[in-house]
Amino acid sequence: MKPLLLSLLAVIATASANPPAVTQQSPPSVYRFKVGDVRVTALSDGTVPINLHDLLKGITPEQTDDLLANSYLANPLEASINAFLLEMGARRVLVDTGAGELFGPHLAGRLPKTLKAAGISPDQITDILITHVHTDHSGGLTAKGKILFPNATIYLGKPDMDYFLDKSNAAKTHYAERYFDEAAITLKPYVDAGKVKSFNKRSELLPGIVGEVRPGHTPGSAFYTLTSHGESIVFIGDIIHADAVQFPRPQVTITFDQNPTQAREVRLTAFAQFAANGTLIAAPHLPFPGVGHLRTDGTGYRWYPIEYADREAANSTSQLEQRLKSAP
Ligand SMILES: [Zn+2]
Repeated sequence: MKPLLLSLLAVIATASANPPAVTQQSPPSVYRFKVGDVRVTALSDGTVPINLHDLLKGITPEQTDDLLANSYLANPLEASINAFLLEMGARRVLVDTGAGELFGPHLAGRLPKTLKAAGISPDQITDILITHVHTDHSGGLTAKGKILFPNATIYLGKPDMDYFLDKSNAAKTHYAERYFDEAAITLKPYVDAGKVKSFNKRSELLPGIVGEVRPGHTPGSAFYTLTSHGESIVFIGDIIHADAVQFPRPQVTITFDQNPTQAREVRLTAFAQFAANGTLIAAPHLPFPGVGHLRTDGTGYRWYPIEYADREAANSTSQLEQRLKSAP
């Protein structure tokens, strides 16, 4: 074989072993499904690369690489940032708000565009459920320092409001200062306007929506359960970041966890319950739309994304049957 061809083959082999970083951008990603009679829309805020070697705790980089390779993935992992819209009667409820402007101009922060693609303007949002006060969840509450959702009431776990709006907690608990600065920019304007309702106990916040504080990832991290006509879905916030690693190894924690021991316990308890009960869950950082079920698998879990459906008519099945009957 000619040397030139050999070296070309070597380049191709190298390229396929090290796929290029994901840089392509899709049109705004929206995915709709029903829970009872509530229309739920998953809204992508974009994706961000996360370096699992630096971030994961309780696992070596080599073990992480092996688990990623099992899923045909490699470090850094491209993590989704998913928010959700619930349309229930006259209410339009948002679960989380993406990163807003806080990751800079070209990283995440796509939620306003995605909402627009879903036909919704920010002033139509009546309520916002914040899973926790971190950049990629509450960052989109404001734009250029101003309230983006003027008609919305914000719900969140009280311990997160108390913790992140008092910057002295950063030094006291050795937690990154930027989260406290960001809370002052994004959450405080709503507090000052009297638009925040915080909760401590498991309580029905809106008809069919129950909030529950599950501290660990942050002091006031919350689950929100929507129930409608016997069907339900739980919005779980950040109890999982890296599916390929933390489903098989749910003991693995991430540096963002404010209390890693508690965060691990919350994940282990919740995953066991979700798997036993066949609970439909929605997760902010699992690949878009981030909605599906868990089953136990050996000492860990396996993820089953919801069925993909994209058709207009409820009677499409019978139309298809007719068509197949008349086909030659
Ligand atoms: Zn997050």
